Amino acid sequence: MGLNGKTAIVTGAGRGIGRATALKLAQEGANVVINYSSSEAGAYETAEEINKMGAKAIVCKGDVRSIEEVKAVVQKAVEEFGTVDILVNNAGITRDTLILRMTEKDWEDVLDVNLKGAFNFIKAVTKIMMKQRSGMIVNVSSVVGVAGNAGQANYCASKAGLIGLTKSVARELAPRGICCNAVAPGFIESDMTDKLPDSMKEEYMRNIPLKRFGTPEDVANVIAFLVSEDAKYITGQVIHIDGGLVM
Ligand code: NAP
Repeated sequence: MGLNGKTAIVTGAGRGIGRATALKLAQEGANVVINYSSSEAGAYETAEEINKMGAKAIVCKGDVRSIEEVKAVVQKAVEEFGTVDILVNNAGITRDTLILRMTEKDWEDVLDVNLKGAFNFIKAVTKIMMKQRSGMIVNVSSVVGVAGNAGQANYCASKAGLIGLTKSVARELAPRGICCNAVAPGFIESDMTDKLPDSMKEEYMRNIPLKRFGTPEDVANVIAFLVSEDAKYITGQVIHIDGGLVM
C-alpha cells in the first residue's frame, strides 16, 4: 500500500484495534509510534512483534487528554523518525449508563479521551504535516456516533463529535495536502465489547446482516487503506466497518 518509509503514530496501540492497526501499518512498511497510557506490556509486545517483521517501532507512554504529553509523543516521533506522516486517533473509552444516572464525571471522562484526545493529537501534528504539505489522519469513530445508542449518550456524543472534527479538519487542511477521514466500526471483538452482557451481544448479532462480529483486523485493514497513497483522493469521509449494521 505504499507505506514504506512513512511514520505513523497510533494512539492506544497496546491492545485491541490500536494494536492491530499498528501491526498492519508496520506490515505495509511504516515506522510505527506505539502510544499507550496503561497497557505497557501490550505496547512493548506490539513493538517487539513489529521489530521481528523487520519494521521499526518505538513505544511512547502518553495520556491523550494531556496536550503536554501528546506534544512529547509527537516530539519523540520526530526525533526518532524525522517526521510524522500518519496519525491514527484510536484511543477511546466507554462509561455506559442511562442518562438519568450519568454523572458529570462519566460525561467528561469520555469526552476528554475520545474527542479532546483526538483534538490534542491533530493540533500537535498539524504544523509538521502542513510544512511537508502532506499527511493522513484517521479518527476512530463508531456507528453509534451516527445512529445513537441508549445508555451511551456520552460515548455517542464523543463519536459524533469526532465526525464533525474529521470533516472540519478535512476542509481546513485539504489545501495543504492533508487528508482526514473517520472509520465507524460496528461491533468489534475487543476488551471494550467483552464486558457487554450476552443479551446485548445477541441483540447486536441479530441486527448484523453479515452475521458475525468484526475483528480488530477488519478495522485495521480499512485504516491501512485510508492512510495509503491509494486513498489520496478521499477526505472528510466516514467509512462504516460494521457488517452492514448501519446503512
Ligand atoms: P479497547 O481494547 O478497550 O482499547 C482502548 C484503547 O484506548 C487502549 O489501547 C487504551 O490504552 C486506549 N486509551 C484509553 N484511554 C487512553 C488515554 N487516556 N490515553 C491514551 N490511550 C488511551 O477497545 P477497542 O475496541 O480496541 O477500541 C479502540 C477504539 O475503537 C476506541 O476509540 C473505540 O471507541 C473504538 N470502537 C470500538 C468498537 C468495538 O466494538 N470494539 C466499535 C466502535 C468503535 P491503554 O490500555 O494503554 O490505557
